[in-house]
Amino acid sequence: MQEIARGSIVEHYNAPAIASTLVKGHQGRRPRKHWWISEPVAEAITVAESVSSHPRRVFATLTPRAVNEELDGGAMVDSFIACVNAGGTWSGLAQIPKGKVRPHMFRRTMAMLTDQFAGSEIALGMQLKHIATRALANRATRGYAAPDPGWAEHLENAVHAARFRRLKDLYEVHGRGQDIGFGSAAERLKGVFDQITATVKARHGDARVEMDLLRKARITIRFGTLNNCLFDERSPAGAVCLENAVVPEGHSGPLEDRCRPDRCPNSMITAEHAPLYEAHHRTQLNLLQTPGLPACRKALITREAERAEAVLYKIRGTTP
Ligand code: SF4
Repeated sequence: MQEIARGSIVEHYNAPAIASTLVKGHQGRRPRKHWWISEPVAEAITVAESVSSHPRRVFATLTPRAVNEELDGGAMVDSFIACVNAGGTWSGLAQIPKGKVRPHMFRRTMAMLTDQFAGSEIALGMQLKHIATRALANRATRGYAAPDPGWAEHLENAVHAARFRRLKDLYEVHGRGQDIGFGSAAERLKGVFDQITATVKARHGDARVEMDLLRKARITIRFGTLNNCLFDERSPAGAVCLENAVVPEGHSGPLEDRCRPDRCPNSMITAEHAPLYEAHHRTQLNLLQTPGLPACRKALITREAERAEAVLYKIRGTTP
């Protein structure tokens, strides 16, 4: 980040990338490298560049002492903590406890936060895939988001609690006779919900019994921006993301970055997901109108449009 200079956003093999120098592990001569980024990242850097007051850098201190001076991340963090702690009386913020804090400790924060919000898990994989398919790094998504050991329990609990809250919402929606989603995974889930309702009725149970049964049903569901995944580790067969995949050592569960919402029997599409596919489908159709498209690009866009169509078909029962 610190090395990103103005004008670093370039195209590299038809994808946006940052052109910069590799610092890590290079003492003297620093090689020029490209790092693939996604469109939103490119946009964010362009905005940061336009507001940066530094003549060369995109990310700089507010009061740069010398134009070519390298930033000292550790000193910046120390200074930030000292400033926050000194201003506690007027800001009302709690004191940051003593201890050494260094920039690398924040490296995974964003991925961890993304992971904590149950809805973003699949989106995270798909977002990284955009970059990772080129860099062959797509297997690392889950590993990158994985917390340090100290966080594990806290994170797991938070994710489970968030998922269960949403599962409960779905159960209630189904109970009111409304549709909770489309696709074979949705039908499976409806079946489980119906069984729970029938059991509660047979036992003359109350809402507490209902929630208990819902918890005990051990429904594995990952809520995503593009679909919900009902992958069940107890019967992983059929998961399209695992087909012909090299599963990283120690990994269990689906490979969200290879998710195929249109094809997988574990994929549940809800009405919330529909606008994304409609927009994606429209974009692909518009792109197809671009004059002079190379055949391979045309084939790629057509495939994307067909995938969006397949999902929309699941929702509406007719092709768009
Ligand atoms: S392909 Fe299927 S199992 Fe894999 S992440 Fe997508 S919905 Fe889940």
